[in-house]
Amino acid sequence: MSVSARAYAALAAGKPLEPFSFKRRALGPADILMDIHFCGVCHSDIHQARNEWGGSRFPMVPGHEIVGVVTKIGSDVKKFKVGDAIGVGCFVDSCRRCDNCRAGLEQYCKEEFVPTYNGIERQTGENTYGGYSSSIVVDENYALRIPKNLDLAKAAPLLCAGITTYSPLKHCGISKNHHIAVIGLGGLGHMAVKIGHALGAQVTVLSSSHDKEKDARRLGANHFVCSRDSGALAKLTGHFDFILNTVSAPIDLAQYLDCLKTDGTMCLVGAPDKPMDLHVFSLITQRRKLMGSLIGGIRETQEMLDFCGAKEIVSEIELIPIQKINEAYERILKSDVKYRFVIDLKSLGSN
Ligand code: NAP
Ligand code: ZN
Repeated sequence: MSVSARAYAALAAGKPLEPFSFKRRALGPADILMDIHFCGVCHSDIHQARNEWGGSRFPMVPGHEIVGVVTKIGSDVKKFKVGDAIGVGCFVDSCRRCDNCRAGLEQYCKEEFVPTYNGIERQTGENTYGGYSSSIVVDENYALRIPKNLDLAKAAPLLCAGITTYSPLKHCGISKNHHIAVIGLGGLGHMAVKIGHALGAQVTVLSSSHDKEKDARRLGANHFVCSRDSGALAKLTGHFDFILNTVSAPIDLAQYLDCLKTDGTMCLVGAPDKPMDLHVFSLITQRRKLMGSLIGGIRETQEMLDFCGAKEIVSEIELIPIQKINEAYERILKSDVKYRFVIDLKSLGSN
């Protein structure tokens, strides 16, 4: 039997989110029913609710940093039991057959993964709806175990901001021998600082906000540079092994690429809707590399959660009721969030 869910949805591009009811699919043998306790608010939610990347599907219930508790399991479920604390990230299915899926790189599924929201459910052909809702039905192979020692609300952002920053840092072998920079101290950026620090790297924050220095250092940064200060970036020419760009808007890439050492790498995870110009001399003169990275696979996401459990890493959050979601979006757009909004889904009430 399908499951009634309460939620907040955008009914059309750019419309404020409002109360919305819908049905989750009936529990299949491999499915888990999860009561959603908390959901983080990612800048990608705003890009998609405003159709900035194109192709958005409405009504849209955003949210892909989902944590809660298992309330029911299908007959074949092996990995989870009722009462377990679990998480769901940015995707809920993939083809499971292609080389990438087999290698645990479901985020690069050649048939494209099924996004947690703004996609089409393979089981029903209906829209997928995300975590700004009371419950979700998910295949057990796409659910994650949340370490018991982590606060559930503060762990929610690990499901996107955590894995999106952990994955490229690990892929590029960042360790204590490296000096890295993080551009943008927002949801992703603050997780990159914590994880980079925990991996032993020297971390510099390159921020457009003057007032984030104290926080950056508290989060684990060794250095802080305000990119708006004239000449500040020029002083860092040839300085870093690795730069992670988490900014949600286009930036002057060359100015930052010049801050890399010979053979240094810049990884883009920020996903602005507009293209960025690139002057190739910043790359070719020092054999620098420019790469991108998308979230992480299920196996790596579990590895990241276990790493965060062992190191007691969680997000810095501002907990909000769902009724404040539109205000939260406006504040994120002004870079006024310290450092992730997390929705307390109890606020949906029972009506
Ligand atoms: P966020 O919390 O809004 O953080 C972005 C930060 O970028 C801001 O706090 C601000 O930091 C800086 N910034 C914003 N506008 C800027 C501008 N015009 N110029 C310079 N700096 C600016 O966003 P988020 O949730 O971390 O997401 C960041 C981006 O990553 C979004 O585009 C999102 O869609 C994308 N994303 C990608 C993936 C992936 O898999 N690749 C996954 C999740 C999210 P300062 O105040 O410190 O400058
Ligand atoms: Zn996200």
